[in-house]
Amino acid sequence: MAETFLNYIDGKWVPAASEETFLDINPARPGEVVGEFQRSGADDVDAAVGAATRAHEEWRKTPAPLRGEVVARATRLLTERKPELAETITREMGKVLVDSGYDVQGAITSGEYMSGEGRRMFGDTVPSGLPNRLAMSIREPVGVVGIVTPWNLPMLMPAWKLFPALVCGNTVVVKPAEDTPMTAVRFFEILEEAGIPPGVANLVTGYGPEAGHPLVTHPDVDMVSFTGSRAVGRQIAISAGEDLKHVSLEMGGKNALVVLDDADVSEAVTGALWGGFSTAGQRCTASSRLVVDHKVADDVVAGLVEGIERLVVGDPLDTETNLGPLINRKQLDRVHSYTEVGQEEGAQLVVGGEKLEEGFDGGYFYSPTLFDHASPNMRIAQEEIFGPTITVIRVDGYDEAIEVANGTRYGLSAAVYTRDTGRALRAVRDLEAGLVYLNAPTIGSEIHLPFGGVKDTGNGHRESGTAAIDQFTELKTVFLDYSGTLQRAHIDEPID
Ligand code: NDP
Repeated sequence: MAETFLNYIDGKWVPAASEETFLDINPARPGEVVGEFQRSGADDVDAAVGAATRAHEEWRKTPAPLRGEVVARATRLLTERKPELAETITREMGKVLVDSGYDVQGAITSGEYMSGEGRRMFGDTVPSGLPNRLAMSIREPVGVVGIVTPWNLPMLMPAWKLFPALVCGNTVVVKPAEDTPMTAVRFFEILEEAGIPPGVANLVTGYGPEAGHPLVTHPDVDMVSFTGSRAVGRQIAISAGEDLKHVSLEMGGKNALVVLDDADVSEAVTGALWGGFSTAGQRCTASSRLVVDHKVADDVVAGLVEGIERLVVGDPLDTETNLGPLINRKQLDRVHSYTEVGQEEGAQLVVGGEKLEEGFDGGYFYSPTLFDHASPNMRIAQEEIFGPTITVIRVDGYDEAIEVANGTRYGLSAAVYTRDTGRALRAVRDLEAGLVYLNAPTIGSEIHLPFGGVKDTGNGHRESGTAAIDQFTELKTVFLDYSGTLQRAHIDEPID
């Protein structure tokens, strides 16, 4: 019998109003049930938003350093439990332990950074144009925030949103992905133990249309912070626009790793293998497109084939394994359908392209896959596959490399391998991406720097670092006049 886990609303663990549940399964062994979770609907979301609304008044008046203390305590608990949390993530979503450890560590570093923001959260103090007057801006919370997260980073993603939102004085309702509710429940157990007051942070598990949709459209939700696919993000932007809600969207990527003719080919291959196959390619920043100068392309492809042959696909709890299963059957079929599309389009399938069945316990395993000689407009070079598939596009020189790298609707992360400093700096200037890496793959961001993308990847916001504080606060401009008389800005200012 699987253990049943509840929603967390107003400081209590409660079942969904419908009393319906759903099962969370281990994608490496679909026969193994991780747990049974609440299938929440509009009533549960309403209860959670109501609790967040009631708790907001007191939480926003709690001094920011004290709000930061709660985050600091949660961070200490995350640190103590890192190994067991990493194992939970691996069981629930199938990525290897080293990737799950990164996921928990991402939450920990976010907590460390954001708890300190409770003592910073700077506004500006600037000179007034009038005598005997102080002028400044201060930060205030936005209000109630609805947070909707994907399954590929089930601990880091909620933490990246929840920690800054809380430190800034917002109250929140989180709807995690249906494939990873266990990690979210463990996170909320930690928040409770850390002393989060009732109603300040609430959790409703369930499906996107049933629980996510009522959350993002709820009239008392002031802001939506979403990470996920472009298709869902776009719908959220449309409804949030109608209601004039704040909305922050972090969506997909089709990230280019560019290898110029003067690159250290061996470094580029090592980077591409890590960037392309970490978390079995299920990363928004995955190095899924390799844009390679034809002068070094044969060497790059040969190096990749050699590297792929060394990759171990199997039980993600085994520390020798490099690639675990994909998240679910649907995603396995989707990734495989792109292999068929690539072949139909005329790209050359070099290795992989197979569902792995024999000896894999019915798990959703896919072989690391490499396409070569793709042209830039093929679907496998344009659409986010979100699996262990790397597509090589051969180009002639710097200008074509940049044109191809920029030639998608997405703009999350880009990388360039070159030994020429001038070309490296030109690439930083020319690549249309929110993140650019030189001589490193497209994954590997750090918490104290902004994270997010341009074009269809985002809507202009950034997560992480002080950019997260900008996102989760409203600026209030304050004038303090001690002149004892009426002063009129732009009228009484002295002009020579
Ligand atoms: P989805 O967009 O399918 O789902 C994201 C979240 O939205 C889930 O919690 C989902 O619930 C929920 N959801 C689904 N439909 C609705 C709806 N109508 N209203 C409100 N919420 C809804 O993305 P995935 O979970 O499949 O994640 C993969 C995607 O996330 C990729 O495109 C990837 O690039 C992107 N991503 C982007 C990142 C970034 O920072 N730019 C980082 C990580 C991932 P449910 O799980 O029930 O479907």
